[in-house]
Amino acid sequence: MIADKMKGMVANSSAIRAMFEEGNRLASLYGAENVYDFSLGNPNVPAPEAVKKAIVELVEGEDPIALHGYTNSNSGYPEVRQAVADSLNERFGTSFGERNIIMTVGAAGGLNVIFKTLLNPGDEVIAFAPYFGEYRSYTNNYDGVLVEISPDTETFQPRLQEFEQKITPKTKAVIVNTPNNPTGVVYSEATIQKMAAIMEAKQEEYGTDIYLISDEPYRELVYDGAEVPYLTKYYDNTIVGYSYSKSLSLPGERIGYLVIPDEVTDSEEVQSAANVATRILGFVNAPTLQQKVVAKCLNEKTDISFYNRNREALYEGLKECGFTCIKPEGAFYLFVKSPIEDEKEFCAAAKKYNILMVPGSSFACPGYVRLAYCVAHETIVNSLPKFKELAKEYF
Ligand code: PLP
Repeated sequence: MIADKMKGMVANSSAIRAMFEEGNRLASLYGAENVYDFSLGNPNVPAPEAVKKAIVELVEGEDPIALHGYTNSNSGYPEVRQAVADSLNERFGTSFGERNIIMTVGAAGGLNVIFKTLLNPGDEVIAFAPYFGEYRSYTNNYDGVLVEISPDTETFQPRLQEFEQKITPKTKAVIVNTPNNPTGVVYSEATIQKMAAIMEAKQEEYGTDIYLISDEPYRELVYDGAEVPYLTKYYDNTIVGYSYSKSLSLPGERIGYLVIPDEVTDSEEVQSAANVATRILGFVNAPTLQQKVVAKCLNEKTDISFYNRNREALYEGLKECGFTCIKPEGAFYLFVKSPIEDEKEFCAAAKKYNILMVPGSSFACPGYVRLAYCVAHETIVNSLPKFKELAKEYF
């Protein structure tokens, strides 16, 4: 007898997960090397060596009672939060302190903490399609209403006119994700400035606070020198949600942070409510060992050349087959136009060749499919002849 609200959630349960499970099933039937599973954003680059070193040093060198205990503050170790703040200040010219940082259980945990902190039932959260499908669940967890901005399928940049029209007195938050999952698009500084100006004007018009939430687990995963503006510098009511899942290849370790700058309206209240939300959502605190690990690895980088090589190979390979998609500037996804209107049918056809991709409708953008290229390079190389066969069904 599960809750009514959960019934809907279970029914809509993530197509991405379902694909992942299908990948495992196919691998057991045909052998993993004969399955081309592009379904999940699970990094295939190992965590930097420094992560392992930090774990060993911490486990061997620190008092286990303290290392594995609850943290005094639910927001995390003070020295870890200060180290994160210092690192951001150095990189982006900001002036954060320990109070502005809350360590979280990945980006997912951080988003849930901030929605719990901000949303009253019926409050609206704006997201730009295509978007990470879990935003809908996270908003729904707190009885918020997700308001969608339709996709601009030419550029996959945000449609700002529609955005302006859809902001209402009930708009509490706007969530952006750049570099973007699923398109790989990076929003330019000019776009951010225009977005900020629209939000400033609407706050003034309605006498409300509209929080810009920057969900940025892919910040460091960029190619060809693309710049990702740091959003707190453009709009005061900005809250950043970050994660080490992709940048340090630690998705299972569940570690990230929120930045709640002093410039945010009622910042102290928001910070202390987020601290309480961390506790009452049942996270209690972000994993303590991992907090200390990331503090030791703030200057570590993933091997971006690995993803870049995959990006080039898959993008060029698919283009040669006749498929169309924009070249991603960041993250590790390709968002490919389905050659038929019903992209789910296209995904089913691809499965005949043991190719697994996620339908765009999971990202509120039907007619497209997402391929996660954070896989072994051989998977891409070996998949291309299969894509060629698949393409012959359409072109
Ligand atoms: N936000 C976006 C856009 C993502 O793509 C993901 C994971 O793929 C998350 C949030 C959740 O990341 P985490 O593993 O840090 O919870």
